Amino acid sequence: MIEQGEFDFENRLVSPTEQPPDSTDDFEVGLRPKTLDEYIGQDSVKENIKICIEAAKQRGDALDHVLLYGPPGLGKTTLSMIIAHEMGVNIRTTSGPAIEKPGDLAALLTNLEKGDVLFIDEIHRLSRQVEEILYPALEDYALDIIMGKGPAARSIRIELNKFTLIGATTRSGQLSAPLRDRFGIIERLELYKPEQLADIIQRSAVILGVPCDLEGARELACRSRGTPRIANRMLRRTRDYAQIMGDGRITKDIARFALDRLEIDDLGLDKLDRRMLKMIINGYGGGPVGLQTLAAAIGEEAITLEDVCEPYLMQLGFISKTPRGRVATQLAYDHLGILRDGQTHL
Ligand code: ADP
Repeated sequence: MIEQGEFDFENRLVSPTEQPPDSTDDFEVGLRPKTLDEYIGQDSVKENIKICIEAAKQRGDALDHVLLYGPPGLGKTTLSMIIAHEMGVNIRTTSGPAIEKPGDLAALLTNLEKGDVLFIDEIHRLSRQVEEILYPALEDYALDIIMGKGPAARSIRIELNKFTLIGATTRSGQLSAPLRDRFGIIERLELYKPEQLADIIQRSAVILGVPCDLEGARELACRSRGTPRIANRMLRRTRDYAQIMGDGRITKDIARFALDRLEIDDLGLDKLDRRMLKMIINGYGGGPVGLQTLAAAIGEEAITLEDVCEPYLMQLGFISKTPRGRVATQLAYDHLGILRDGQTHL
């Protein structure tokens, strides 16, 4: 499906969110690390979680509720599965928007066995109603259900097994304060460093049976926007080029060739990122320009630019947000080879 404008988001190589090719086959599933030791990077998060797991196991207790937040594709789902594995319990996964009614949540909770993990992705999208029945479940391991209507209505309490909720969100700011307060362990996942991504790529290459040398892995890592999901997807696409254009091995040259063909530049920017930057620079004198105006000029939706392009462009220091709109920084001019007066470097 092509969304508004000419850009094909469903197949955007550098999108950090899951896409049909990742989710419909076992590609991502097979590459997920299964233990904390296999999980690369996020050292302080791993360290904290390891201690909490050990302590809970020693007490023979369920792990405290965990909130994981950070951009998509950084390993929140993976880490939740690892936690369940390390605790030796079952995990049930769902997402905020999938739990439409309080009854849906009640059904999930009453089916949990002692110590089990309930993983709720996009937990900031739970409805108010559902959130309210979650509070006593998290605190007292009980559900208060109202039976009947009007004067005949009465409340009954259902006891639950002690369980662990793991919530994941890309927008922790949108979580209500009472919900946030009920998590004992709150951890933020950070974008990965290129060396860590190169390790992830080499690990995935071994699993996929694709020879990939260190230089090749580093080349892919630098263009993966700090995100393992993007790194793995690039590996998969580059594998095809290595097979057809080379001897099957992913080297620096093959990685460069593939990513240049896919129009992903040295820093992992794609056509859409560059179009946005060029519009700010050439269309609006470098800014400030309001997001809505910019979106209309490019022919994409404002929310897409905000969620898909901006986080990484801001992290690189290519754009800054001001009260009057977005401004392109000198770094953006330099990266695109554009001089301040609009001329292009030769
Ligand atoms: P999120 O839930 O944050 O969107 P996922 O847990 O689904 O991200 O991770 C996306 C993919 O990235 C996984 O399939 C996994 O293969 C890979 N991945 C994520 N984190 C790591 C890591 N620390 N080490 C190795 N691979 C990882």
